[in-house]
Amino acid sequence: MSTAVAEPLAEAPPADAEPSAKELAKASSSALARLRAPVMGRTRIAIVLAALGALAALVPFVALARLAELLLAPGPVDRGEVVTVVWLVVAGLGARGLLSGVALAITHLADTSLQAHLRRRMIDRLGRVPLGWFSDTSSGMVRKSAQDDVDDLHHLVAHHSVELTGAVVLPIGGLAYLVWLDWRLALLAIATLPVYGAAYAIMMRGYQDRIAHMNVAFGRISAAVAEFVGGIAVVKAFGRARRAHEAYRRTAAEFGETYAGWVGPMLRLSSLSSMALVGPVIAVVNLAGGIWFVAEGWVTPVEAMTGLLVALILPSTITALGFGAQSRRTAAAAALRVQTLLDTPPLPVASEPRVPDGHRVEFSDVRFSYDGRSDVLRDVTFAMEPGTVTALVGPSGSGKSTLATLLPRFHDVTAGAIRLGGVDVRDVAPEELYRHVGFVLQDVQLLRMSVLDNIRLGRPDTSDAAVHAAARAAQIDARIRALPRGYDSVVGEDAVLSGGEAQRVSIARALLADTPVLVLDEATAFADPESEAAIQDALSELASGRTLLVIAHRLSTITGADTIVVLDDGRVAESGTHERLLAAGGRYARMWEAAR
Ligand code: ADP
Ligand code: MG
Repeated sequence: MSTAVAEPLAEAPPADAEPSAKELAKASSSALARLRAPVMGRTRIAIVLAALGALAALVPFVALARLAELLLAPGPVDRGEVVTVVWLVVAGLGARGLLSGVALAITHLADTSLQAHLRRRMIDRLGRVPLGWFSDTSSGMVRKSAQDDVDDLHHLVAHHSVELTGAVVLPIGGLAYLVWLDWRLALLAIATLPVYGAAYAIMMRGYQDRIAHMNVAFGRISAAVAEFVGGIAVVKAFGRARRAHEAYRRTAAEFGETYAGWVGPMLRLSSLSSMALVGPVIAVVNLAGGIWFVAEGWVTPVEAMTGLLVALILPSTITALGFGAQSRRTAAAAALRVQTLLDTPPLPVASEPRVPDGHRVEFSDVRFSYDGRSDVLRDVTFAMEPGTVTALVGPSGSGKSTLATLLPRFHDVTAGAIRLGGVDVRDVAPEELYRHVGFVLQDVQLLRMSVLDNIRLGRPDTSDAAVHAAARAAQIDARIRALPRGYDSVVGEDAVLSGGEAQRVSIARALLADTPVLVLDEATAFADPESEAAIQDALSELASGRTLLVIAHRLSTITGADTIVVLDDGRVAESGTHERLLAAGGRYARMWEAAR
């Protein structure tokens, strides 16, 4: 669906329309827990291994202190014990590497299977949602979820638990060892932390709100970029390039201010707080404290050195906790999007499907609403006899496209029924329905594959000759042969097709699919008369022998239709043949007069 760019910059939705940051965070966390559930068992095993690895990493600390003691002790050095201690250092480091390596291997395997599982569920669900669900917005969402969101989850599942466990257990073990040596050493080691803690708390104050503001600002800038790029032709054509550009610049500047306002204080504070953490500061504080403790006779110089070593690993813990929390928030937000996608209601499928008997199509008291509030269609009743052409006409927005897409179940009716061969389309199995009902829609969708494969999409085993025949009937064969690689040219690479040409390719596709009932939302925007005439020829080829529902944008093209249904504001205003409707002198007659 394409919308005209009326104003270069649309207003972004107001922030208060969104759920509050708190609610969002809660929903995100629960989505994350649900998505992770299948791999939680393996994650716990990995956490235990990582914790053991971190404890193993403490052995070198203890051993080094013992080594210093041995070497500094008066009298001859006990060589045997020195060797033992050196071996302990090596063993501790080795065990740490091995344990955390195994833990990471476990979480990476868990992540791989979780990703495969999630992608399978997404594909499975997307294969069952109504076709009407797919739009530009939803396909962007799918792309984001299948790629970025699953990647965000990767970091959490594969790295977060193991790395965070290590980052927490190691300093706690270290502090416990210090307490065991002398409680004053432990206090000294954490003396510089409160400064950082306070600064961090100030930095994170109102974080959720600021993130929400950022997202609104970011949404605005995206919209401005999208409209600037998407509407560039229209904007230029109407000489408003300057205005659009200014709107974009203004949005960008606003964003810059928001961002600076957010990041600026954080940078200043965090530089302050990391000051408290940088090695030298900690070293100086701990050395001074250590010298004092030794002078007082509370600890030995070696114990004071051990205290310094433990103090030096604390900053990386705080940083890891900060990054861990951030990566958890990112992953939770991603999980919510993935979960939302997985929760998309599927198209209901009949438990006991029925097979249509013939191809008479019947719209009976059809009512339809997109949002459940305002009706787009009301009391629509008419029938399409097999082998006839029915044309839908009416002003823009009267519901023509909506009505046409209800037949192939892009959406289901809100009330009433659509019957094919006497059977409600909701009682027909979807594959069965698509063998009966085909469609060529306004926004032609060609896939990034060869033109040949695009045409035989619905029937992959069709011979090349049959594809060529369909293309000839659709008036596009000669054009395809003129492409660099003919039928093997790939759409979007060396097959560059105009809108009219793409529409004829999709008509060839529909011809080949050969469904007895066909829905056709006729192309409008193709100005060149040659293309228009070729499409007309292709369409009459398509119509022969089929039950056709066509949305015509030019009345001149449907004067020969068996029935013309005039829609007005979602209701059938009148219906009949061209002659009868002209004679009736109603809405159709006025439209016909106006179009001449
Ligand atoms: P027509 O094809 O006659 O121009 P449409 O069927 O496209 O009319 O639109 C009928 C009404 O339904 C319009 O008010 C339009 O804004 C609305 N509409 C169309 N598509 C959607 C959609 N996907 N979601 C919500 N509203 C829609
Ligand atoms: Mg339309």
